[in-house]
Amino acid sequence: VLLARRETWDIARGPEATLAHVGAGFDDMLEEVGRQTPVWGATIGVPGPVDFASGEPVSPPIMPGWDGFDIRGWVTRRYDVPVWVDNDVNLMAMGELVHGTARGVPNALYVKAGTGIGAGIVAGGQIQRGATGSAGDIGHIAVTDDPTVICRCGQTGCLEAVAGGWALAQAARGGAEAGRSPWLAAALTDHGEILAHDIAQGARNGDPLCVEMIARAGRVVGESLATLVNILNPSVVTIGGTIADSGNLFLAAVRETVYRRCLPLATRDLSVVVSSLNHYEGIIGGASLALDRIFTPHTLERWVTRGSPLDIDRSLLYSA
Ligand SMILES: [Zn+2]
Repeated sequence: VLLARRETWDIARGPEATLAHVGAGFDDMLEEVGRQTPVWGATIGVPGPVDFASGEPVSPPIMPGWDGFDIRGWVTRRYDVPVWVDNDVNLMAMGELVHGTARGVPNALYVKAGTGIGAGIVAGGQIQRGATGSAGDIGHIAVTDDPTVICRCGQTGCLEAVAGGWALAQAARGGAEAGRSPWLAAALTDHGEILAHDIAQGARNGDPLCVEMIARAGRVVGESLATLVNILNPSVVTIGGTIADSGNLFLAAVRETVYRRCLPLATRDLSVVVSSLNHYEGIIGGASLALDRIFTPHTLERWVTRGSPLDIDRSLLYSA
């Protein structure tokens, strides 16, 4: 990785504003690394289901305005290179598969516990996207009947609405204002809001309310994950995302719940670990996806003698 940049952005601002911002960021970064190396491809990850072949989001629950938006077309008009679009967690799972905790592991799961919650499924050494791109989208499965637990997708009782970073942050604000957490009260004074990151760091530093919230979130995520583990029988489950930054607390709660709630055969050779790629798993996965597609033998033979993959028939690169 030559250069990486991280920014907070509300995806609900819609595709035009978001991609214009991302595009400007790309321009800056290309300038910064120097343009001697030509760009051969771009990968975009988004927090929702994607039709991989067309590169369009499909009814994404938390991305108003993005349904069916031609992300590939937009990026191609700016940079005339092959463009892949995928669910962000699928790219993270791919990063772990190629360079991280699941390297060479044919059956694995990656779980992002950040602002939202999602899973990427690797089976038979391949990312499983499902029929319409929503495989592994566990954030909006129902985990409670409580009608007061309202999710940002509009439904009630979703996993995210109980254990997602945005839901924890909402609950944490109440706790801070009620004087139950010196750590969160300080965060609120410092930057005027509480972020999932603050709660994870609070737990790491032993703040009692943060510890309680993270441990509970770990148990709830573990319950949903246990179902997936029973069905898919992976040998590695990798946990990443902001919430997983709480030291070992979140991991321990997830692990304990998964082992307790799974069939013995499903956990006999199972390890539950934290990502080793320090939040780079998504960009490493995105780069790996592009490399993989450009350098498969049947693609390579079409461009290798010409020295560049830019003018081959791109539909060859995008099959699901
Ligand atoms: Zn939801």
